[in-house]
Amino acid sequence: MERADTLIVGARVIDGTGAPAVERDVAVRDGRIVAIAEPGGLSHWTADHTFDARGKVLAPGFIDVHTHDDTHVIRSPQMMPKITQGVTTVIVGNCGISASPVTLRSDPPDPMNLLGDASAFRYPTFAAYVDAVNDARPTVNVGALIGHTALRNNHMDRLDRAATADEIAGMRAQLEEALDHGALGLSSGLAYGSAFNAPPEEVEALAEPLGKAGALYTTHMRTEFDAILDAMNEAYGVGRHARVPVVISHLKCAGPSNWGRSVEVLKSLETVRDGQPVGCDCYPYNRSSSTLDLKQVTGDIDITITWSEPHPEMAGKLIREVADEWKVSQQDAAKRLQPAGAVYHNMSEDDVRRILSHPATMVGSDGLPNDPLPHPRLWGAFPRVLGHYARDTALITLEEAVRKMTSLSARRFGLSERGEVREGFHADLVVFDPERVRDAATFAKPQQAAEGIDAVWVNGVLTYREQAVTGARAGRFVARGAASKVDAAGAF
Ligand SMILES: [Zn+2]
Repeated sequence: MERADTLIVGARVIDGTGAPAVERDVAVRDGRIVAIAEPGGLSHWTADHTFDARGKVLAPGFIDVHTHDDTHVIRSPQMMPKITQGVTTVIVGNCGISASPVTLRSDPPDPMNLLGDASAFRYPTFAAYVDAVNDARPTVNVGALIGHTALRNNHMDRLDRAATADEIAGMRAQLEEALDHGALGLSSGLAYGSAFNAPPEEVEALAEPLGKAGALYTTHMRTEFDAILDAMNEAYGVGRHARVPVVISHLKCAGPSNWGRSVEVLKSLETVRDGQPVGCDCYPYNRSSSTLDLKQVTGDIDITITWSEPHPEMAGKLIREVADEWKVSQQDAAKRLQPAGAVYHNMSEDDVRRILSHPATMVGSDGLPNDPLPHPRLWGAFPRVLGHYARDTALITLEEAVRKMTSLSARRFGLSERGEVREGFHADLVVFDPERVRDAATFAKPQQAAEGIDAVWVNGVLTYREQAVTGARAGRFVARGAASKVDAAGAF
């Protein structure tokens, strides 16, 4: 007799590589997948727990490559918005903002305030952050990027200028220390005022240590509006300079004058992919969300206020309604509301579908866990791709949807032995009902658990079952492993 901790029997296994679903029994022991066999093939095994998954899909746990969960994994280690979706690993530190290494002089600059107020920033070194994650024992695994804006904050007296050579050297030393402790790479948020005046040369110089470390560069680009192709070229340039893979974060064509341009945007990506590793992530919604940006208050799209420090009573209202109520322009209303958060109705559904279905695109939620009225992507991104986009509208197959959330993400970010249902891999697993899985979170009621996620194991430990957490928390900090340069489609 062979012994397992858990046997999952009768499942349709979607292994994460894009291969067609097959019926299999799976054995888990000591946090790893130890055997995969045809139905009945594990009858000589005993197990403490047997999970009957007939009629259900067993897939690798989902990897949320684009999160702002840096402080949430420590303060709310149950991680309800993510574990309820079948997410087993989150990557934090996106868009240039990371919780570490950070030393604040006063309040966190925009958009670092998305991670919390000054009290949330307690990690002057990356090693301190890693210890805090492991001490908190969140339900999910945590991989981390280092934010360019966070580093600027540490070394510059003001952020509306380029960094000097000395300041870049100080930033680089902190980045190198973080890479030595397992950080996945560097992220930037060049569209924000706190990094907009950083020239490409600053980012290129900072990115140089990434190549030797086998790390990567991710970017919330300088613009997602009319000059998006220039911004993409800038991102590719950083990758070429530092000889590192590039991930364009939450790729989108923002603003009505840009709608329809996903065709040329994806063509740019495809052309450059012949010569260097470049990919992207996106969230499956046609509205974006961040802090309230005066540049985007142009009157040509609707903008919903999600929070406002001076006027919390305006959460949920359109900025146009606030302006009418106050009898001022939308610009003036926006100024009075700040600091504030917003949802921008700024994408076309055709572009979202085109970008999401491209083989180079991973799924990342970009959820904002500290927002009192968060964009529903926080609780709904992954089941929305499985339900709405794969099953209900047949944009992509279920196998392809899972690949975008698992093996493609693990290979790109260097999360070794994760992202596939494969013998020897970590047992991060989700069982879901392919007929019922759906996102329940809406813009009006965004904090709602997905339906049809039946069970979630993290490092072999059953963590979520029948719409409830079990109380077990088996996630841990995940250091950078060897990134695989090649994905199932033959390209990065
Ligand atoms: Zn961003």
